[in-house]
Amino acid sequence: GFKCGIVGLPNVGKSTIFNAITSAGAESANYPFCTIEPNVGVVAVPDKRLDALAAIVKPQKVLPTSMEFVDIAGLVKGASKGEGLGNQFLGHIRQVDAIAHIVRCFEDENVVHVDGSVDPLRDVEIIQTELNLSDLETVEKRILRTEKQAKSGDKKLQAELEVLVKVRACLNEGRPARALEASDEERRVLRELQLITARPVLYVANVAEDDLEGRHPFVGQLSELAQREGAELVIICGKIEAEIAELPAEEKGEFLSELGLAESGLDRMIHAGYNLLGLITYFTAGVKEVRAWTIPAGARAPQAAGVIHTDFEKGFIRAEVIAYNDFLRSGGEAGAKEKGLMRLEGKEYVVHDGDVMHFRFNV
Ligand code: GDP
Repeated sequence: GFKCGIVGLPNVGKSTIFNAITSAGAESANYPFCTIEPNVGVVAVPDKRLDALAAIVKPQKVLPTSMEFVDIAGLVKGASKGEGLGNQFLGHIRQVDAIAHIVRCFEDENVVHVDGSVDPLRDVEIIQTELNLSDLETVEKRILRTEKQAKSGDKKLQAELEVLVKVRACLNEGRPARALEASDEERRVLRELQLITARPVLYVANVAEDDLEGRHPFVGQLSELAQREGAELVIICGKIEAEIAELPAEEKGEFLSELGLAESGLDRMIHAGYNLLGLITYFTAGVKEVRAWTIPAGARAPQAAGVIHTDFEKGFIRAEVIAYNDFLRSGGEAGAKEKGLMRLEGKEYVVHDGDVMHFRFNV
């Protein structure tokens, strides 16, 4: 599955948000095993299309697709030098696909700030510096190794070295590795390094209960920063999310509309994470189950089939495809077939978000 790591300074609301995420997951009967480890939670990716498909097909089961969130605590000033719980946690970050950076934008005299005052931009910089330093260490080590190996005159290693030197310069300027302009070949080298700052970032402004619209200047500052970096920003109130998570499912909607919200902050966070990772959803719609599947945008039909089972990919022959809207307005598969809206697609077909698919394969 796809993983999103939650980072931020202590006392900014990480656990509050993480707990809200896991209890939201715990409630979904489809994810009884939602807490894999104390700091890893699985959440269903909310998708209204799934309900619409289920209303037509009336399957025995409806299965949403999921995402993992990992609570990465222990990041403080000096973490890259082993302070706090330091490097151990930086190790966890290397395993995630994207980073949700929780930034404290709420003032509350009962909640101590580790640096004495609330200041989102300073906080972001502290975390970014630690992540940068940690990556810098990785790159330095790799440069030393590659320099030795490249002495033999190997062209490939020399090219690699050039990329490494470029990343080092970028990190030394205080810029994240994702800001580096790189060719495909250079990206391949970068990917191998598994740099933390190469991961896409989603900023999460944790605001006060009475500031859900994000009018506070703190949010403005963070929003400008996100825009400059081309990052996403989600505004949420951890305290309210914790309350929503406790509510029975049927009361959630009402509570949200009283607050003037269409979606809970968590749902917005899940969707933003999904977009950030460049993921799309396709569906399978049988009488046994209607199910959502996650694939990277740009994936071709066999790769999409492989998400269900590796045999589906290996033995792929063809895919029967009905676009989501066609499926809906035809009242299901039979109707779509009658109208000629079901397509037979081959190996090269690039799957669209919302495609309803059925795979034909050799065993
Ligand atoms: P972490 O150290 O980043 O995991 O932070 P916690 O989630 O433990 O939160 C630290 C404190 O801030 C706790 O006492 C929370 O109840 C409180 N807190 C978290 N989110 C909010 C919020 O949106 N508003 C207010 N007023 N307090 C919050």
